[in-house]
Amino acid sequence: MSMEYIRTDGIYHPDREEIKKSIVVVEDGDIVELRDDVPTDTEVTIETDGYALPGFVDAHSHASIRPWEGDQIGQLRADAAVGAVRATNNLWRDLEAGTTTMRLMGEERGLDLHLAALEREGELNAPRLLPSGVHLTPTGGHGKALTATDGSSAIRTRIRTNVEAGAHHVKYFATGGVSSDTGDVGRPLYTDEEVAAIVDESHRLGVHVAAHAHGGRGALSAVEAGVDTIEHGGALDEETLNALDGSDRHVIGTFSILHHPRGIEAGDADSPAVMAKVREARERGGEAWTTLLERDVAVALGTDSMHGHLADEVAHLLDLGTSPEVAIRAITTEAARAAHIDHRVGSLEAGKSADLVIVNDHPLENPHTVADPQAVVKRGEVVA
Ligand SMILES: [Zn+2]
Repeated sequence: MSMEYIRTDGIYHPDREEIKKSIVVVEDGDIVELRDDVPTDTEVTIETDGYALPGFVDAHSHASIRPWEGDQIGQLRADAAVGAVRATNNLWRDLEAGTTTMRLMGEERGLDLHLAALEREGELNAPRLLPSGVHLTPTGGHGKALTATDGSSAIRTRIRTNVEAGAHHVKYFATGGVSSDTGDVGRPLYTDEEVAAIVDESHRLGVHVAAHAHGGRGALSAVEAGVDTIEHGGALDEETLNALDGSDRHVIGTFSILHHPRGIEAGDADSPAVMAKVREARERGGEAWTTLLERDVAVALGTDSMHGHLADEVAHLLDLGTSPEVAIRAITTEAARAAHIDHRVGSLEAGKSADLVIVNDHPLENPHTVADPQAVVKRGEVVA
């Protein structure tokens, strides 16, 4: 394959906070060089009229779920063909909005593993997918759709099965959640022994562990056991934040599912138990995240199935008082680190995948520019 030249108004590196060069040189879908000009006798392959940001990384989502339709667990139980078609449409919304990489957090029937393979093979116009396989939750636990996993031995087998089938990481439920009425958002779902087995088996196999954890004892035991990312983190207390201090482990913010009118509220407004939790979670989340950001905990963002809404996550982080730099990093470099894919994506540099989002404005002058991409490029090709 020959070289491609993508012309932009400037290339933004989220960690260096600067605009440099304007030409991205691509070969076989990877960036080989950033330049100031196109060599003589060479034509520009893709002309753009805006700034280039790294393709966005959604650090937490699910392919088949639509929160605004309600009963998310029921959606996970859908027939395989139904789930696949709905997921295809959902993922297109994400890609169109600039998400070129997505870390998935659990599907039934191997749906996410199949979708990830289809995307790699060029059959599916979707973000690059990092699947977890079926998520781990115990009998009666939050997030249980068809599969429950109980006891250390079954946990180890489940992780081995997922990884054998292509899982990129392990997702387990450390606490209850907001979108169902199965348990308090702080009560641990697994015993300490089971959590230790999850972390040990995952790390032994070389994959990282994402823990769904809002707060309380469940979140603390996850952090102490050595999980790699905390998902949601809407009620993390002092003790848990202390345990996180000084580590480069990320907390993944998922705000729009709770705050956007098309989130849980749209689907589950008629469930008083869920709506009471939504109101409580909004209040506690604001406090917990303000503290967490003050303490410089590493953060990244995910849509949690709010397909196409990653820019709303950025807007929420900005509303909490972060700088544009931190907010942009949370969907680029930091999200790539959290997802353990920063050797391939998250910044525009030689050796990384040519995933770009072209935006109208300078991202530091107007970070909301991420809401309206001019073009999305994945592996060197314009995909949206
Ligand atoms: Zn989730």
